[in-house]
Amino acid sequence: MTPTSMAEKPHAVLVPFPAQGHINPFLKLAKLLHSKGFHITFVNTEYNHKRLLKSGDPNSLDGLPGFRFETIPEGLSTTGDANATQPVPSLCQSTKNKCLAPFRELLHKLNHGPSSNGPPVTCIVSDGVMSFTLRASEELGIPNVVFWTTSACGFMGYKQCSNLMESGIIPFKDSNYIKDGCLETNVDWIRGKKRIRMKDLPILIRTTNPNDIILNFLHGEVEAASRASAIILHTFDALERDVLDALSSMFPCNIYAIGPLQLHLDQSKESNLKHIGSSLWKEDDYCVEWLDSKDPKSVVYVNFGSVRVLTQEEIIELAWGLANSKRSFLWVIRPDLVEGGAEALPLDFIHETRESSLMARWCPQERVLNHPSIGGFLTHCGWNSTIESISAGVPMVCWPFSSEQRPNCLYACSEWGIGLGMDGDGISRDEVEKLVRELMGGEKGKMMKDKAMEWKRKAQDATSPGGSSYLNLERLLYETLQIKN
Ligand code: UDP
Repeated sequence: MTPTSMAEKPHAVLVPFPAQGHINPFLKLAKLLHSKGFHITFVNTEYNHKRLLKSGDPNSLDGLPGFRFETIPEGLSTTGDANATQPVPSLCQSTKNKCLAPFRELLHKLNHGPSSNGPPVTCIVSDGVMSFTLRASEELGIPNVVFWTTSACGFMGYKQCSNLMESGIIPFKDSNYIKDGCLETNVDWIRGKKRIRMKDLPILIRTTNPNDIILNFLHGEVEAASRASAIILHTFDALERDVLDALSSMFPCNIYAIGPLQLHLDQSKESNLKHIGSSLWKEDDYCVEWLDSKDPKSVVYVNFGSVRVLTQEEIIELAWGLANSKRSFLWVIRPDLVEGGAEALPLDFIHETRESSLMARWCPQERVLNHPSIGGFLTHCGWNSTIESISAGVPMVCWPFSSEQRPNCLYACSEWGIGLGMDGDGISRDEVEKLVRELMGGEKGKMMKDKAMEWKRKAQDATSPGGSSYLNLERLLYETLQIKN
């Protein structure tokens, strides 16, 4: 596509949910659309914009001609540490209730302000959990593509929760349902083809509270996806074909699997956007230098993403499990990872592991995962971490907790053959030690490494010209966004 004049250029406004695991894939999608000839407006919340200015190169947020950043308030009052993850339930409520008005104003400014704002807005690409934007696009009569930054199995997990709510099964009548064997009960996952345990559905089902904020929020957002012009998922056809087919029969619009986005960008010639980063914490580049000094595949990478918080007991079990495995590890301990602070780490653990291992506050995760010294990943199975691990060919130990991490774990372990599951309901140092040893040197670990490399090649094929994700992206552009050749 070669737009001939500014006025003809398509203009996409991208609106991620204000959390790290959403901003990252959105920025990748924005860069990709820019490389396809779009004018881009990328909308962050004011809180996160300030964090991005502090954590990276502030000039990169000036954007470039054709790629601009804007902000809207998320509606929460800032108290305490302005560099911490904002509470997710509060964010869900405030984005839903308070963001539509400032977003409308922003669209008005973009369409009627100075020409430096770019051509008129032609489409909105909004997060699956920012469905207030659908109203704005309906008012303007422009397409709204909804990007669920999840796996297909994760999105299916949310859809199933929504269905269980509709049929009155959740919230559970009382807590005995959660304690007793009820979570072992099977539910129909892919109609007539596959059943899974309730235990493997997103953890949000484990409630007895009819006013549970997250449960009600996600129910509303999943159902709102039916109003979208199209749905995008951050996965690829070969990885989740059955679930993608099943989802297609549940929504009226097209569903496009276009991931992994980073692999499209790796192949793209455009380099002038490379310096624009999306890390909310300052990255510790020393991690990569340290990995350079290590043997190939000798280091376990340990990271639980941007939201998960561990109890004191969990961190101590984890620490001793890692130490007892006698493997080198790179462990990222975010400043807000541990309830009560990371001082919880025992001094003798620090003493015992300091020669062979490294702890950091935040790292350039994709560079780390693609480093030859990394042999495995102990992860919470956030979807970005999982697809980044698949893209790098790295096998995993999976310790899922919230969001759609349980279905991701189930698929990594039972469908894709690249994960060893840890019981999400408890942690013991012996289990950590055993699984890390298996991951880094056991027979199963070796098989998982081969499988992970196989998926990496399939992911590369999917994003190469003629591959499924490459073609799905083209279809999205020409069919839904009606870009002209
Ligand atoms: N990330 C990073 N450095 C870190 C930890 C995480 O760059 O030290 C990035 C990671 O690459 C991923 C995102 O933060 O893109 C975390 O998203 P994920 O879905 O894995 O987990 P969440 O934070 O949403 O629980």
